[in-house]
Amino acid sequence: LTEGLRELAQEPAITTDGIEVPVYANSGLLADIQPSLQSGADGIGLYRTEVPFMIRERFPGEGEQSRIYRDVLEPFDPKPVILRTLDVGGDKALPYFPVVEDNPFLGWRGIRITLDHPEIFLTQLRAMLRASVGLSNLHIMFPMIGALSELKGALQLLQRARDELLDEGYAVDMPKVGVMVEVPSAVYLAETLARRVDFLSVGTNDLVQYLLAVDRNNPRVAALYDGMHPAVLHALKQAAEGAHRAGKSISVCGEMAADPAAVILLLGLEIDALSVSVASLARIKWVIRSFSRERAKELLDQCLTMEEPVAIRALLDNALVQAG
Ligand code: PEP
Ligand code: MG
Repeated sequence: LTEGLRELAQEPAITTDGIEVPVYANSGLLADIQPSLQSGADGIGLYRTEVPFMIRERFPGEGEQSRIYRDVLEPFDPKPVILRTLDVGGDKALPYFPVVEDNPFLGWRGIRITLDHPEIFLTQLRAMLRASVGLSNLHIMFPMIGALSELKGALQLLQRARDELLDEGYAVDMPKVGVMVEVPSAVYLAETLARRVDFLSVGTNDLVQYLLAVDRNNPRVAALYDGMHPAVLHALKQAAEGAHRAGKSISVCGEMAADPAAVILLLGLEIDALSVSVASLARIKWVIRSFSRERAKELLDQCLTMEEPVAIRALLDNALVQAG
């Protein structure tokens, strides 16, 4: 990246017709926090809490977790930080909590585990709430929600964690709460889910895997894993419309948000914010600054009529080249 691009990364990303699109950073390591701040992230759009769990030898306790979360929240306050609750299972294993299954991606993972283990979940939620005392930027997000009952269960435990802490004398505010859209059923439930929370965030890594039935980590089928698949575009459109009908914001925190061609489509879909790895931040802000939402919508409408991912990609790549 040129020096100019890096300097511009500190500035907000605004489309040529004046719409600001916050670009957040994805993270799971405390080591990412300073680089994220310095590279101009507008906040942390996804903090994967399983990472600190994975590098320990046992479940971190409430106090230990609380210190970790505080170290993420405080440097960014008042910019938003989205802490995602534990998302283990699937391809993410904890050495001290073995989950052995024939079909782990369709098995016990994410919210399914923490709802079955309220003691693990409550410890984490209490730690998050405690970490945010005196700060205003805590957002809590639930992974792998596929049904309303799961969201209700998670919200009940969050309420319980807060009530307990208030009883114990902690001045904890209710945080902003969000749901990941990464299980295909959540696409169809987007409005229902959004009505009960503050925001949605699309996890395209899992959403593409589950929509297309293509393992996100299997090289043999990697060519079939394609975010430009028309089914993915229609799913994103449905999710965005559902969130907006409920009057809520929707962001994208999967890898698609770091793909410049895909970002044109996300702008057209009126996605409210993006979250990408630090390395992609400057580039993605550049894409946002290079297009108007109107132009992005025209390109999106064209893409939505196309039937093949290669044709969609070609059209968008051409638009990127024209933008310089
Ligand atoms: C996703 O699924 O897109 C996502 C952001 O979460 P993870 O990659 O941690 O599953
Ligand atoms: Mg995911």
